[in-house]
Amino acid sequence: MSALDRSTVVAVIGAGAMGAGIAQVAAQAGHPVKLHDTRPGAAAQAIDGIDRQLGKLVEKGKLSAEARAATVARLQPADAIEALADAGLVIEAIVENLEVKRGLLRQLEALCSAECILASNTSSLSITSLAAGLAHPERVIGMHFFNPAPLMALVEIVSGLATPRALAERLYATASAWGKQPVHTKSTPGFIVNRVARPFYAESLRLLQEGAADCATLDALLRDAGGFRMGAFELTDLIGHDVNYAVTCSVFAAYYGDFRFQPSLIQKELVDAGRLGRKSGHGFYSYA
Ligand code: NAD
Repeated sequence: MSALDRSTVVAVIGAGAMGAGIAQVAAQAGHPVKLHDTRPGAAAQAIDGIDRQLGKLVEKGKLSAEARAATVARLQPADAIEALADAGLVIEAIVENLEVKRGLLRQLEALCSAECILASNTSSLSITSLAAGLAHPERVIGMHFFNPAPLMALVEIVSGLATPRALAERLYATASAWGKQPVHTKSTPGFIVNRVARPFYAESLRLLQEGAADCATLDALLRDAGGFRMGAFELTDLIGHDVNYAVTCSVFAAYYGDFRFQPSLIQKELVDAGRLGRKSGHGFYSYA
């Protein structure tokens, strides 16, 4: 199965941490990319951020000035969702909420052509549920990138019950053509990575709650002695506590309240306080 043609317009919805990164990946792969967010000015701001990131690579001699300019020229902010009508692939990276994502997919089904692929970057929500309610659920698939998307090679290609094999193979080939290392998975709560990562977060949070050690000590131990690239506290600060907590809640609910996936009260407090991690300047650590 061949990858999507480079002339295919890729629309990315949600110009946050993930949407911006995914837009960069698709533009660097040669696609015209439209970036949309409901927050006014967010898409243009994200494109400026991408330009700055690429500028740093130029300064380090890792990217040519021409490649930077060509990538940025392929990125277009789209304030109105109607501007995405000519997309051949839409990747949504909005808030991790089933009903909000389902509403968006219904809107996209009415807006985009019948051939347009509707992909979700959801971390944990059921692709089968996201697709249910559409006239053509077979258009929906998971394309789950990792943070930061331009640097992380893994992409989970997630099939719901209605996803045809040919579509999964098409997106797998596309992710490979974008320089990623995709893996096929069936839609199961948390898919592969976020499922196996749950105990990593949960046990770290339980150790903190029990007063075993502070965050910095636990992170250093997991990094230096455990061989992990990041400890659970620095990693959840990077992911965003709103996102990580929503993922835990979704996996917990999907497994009918299985204790292994129980969300942490400590993390809920951070979310309630708006201490979402790096993106808000404060989480377990301070980034001011
Ligand atoms: P984020 O909070 O950084 O960004 C979300 C963006 O979506 C915001 O800019 C918000 O304004 C916008 N948005 C919200 N509702 C919208 C709507 N209806 N239409 C258009 N824009 C809308 O979140 P994020 O970390 O980028 O996560 C986005 C998605 O990616 C979530 O589904 C999350 O589970 C998934 N994800 C996150 C990570 C991570 O490490 N943060 C990793 C992989 C996947």
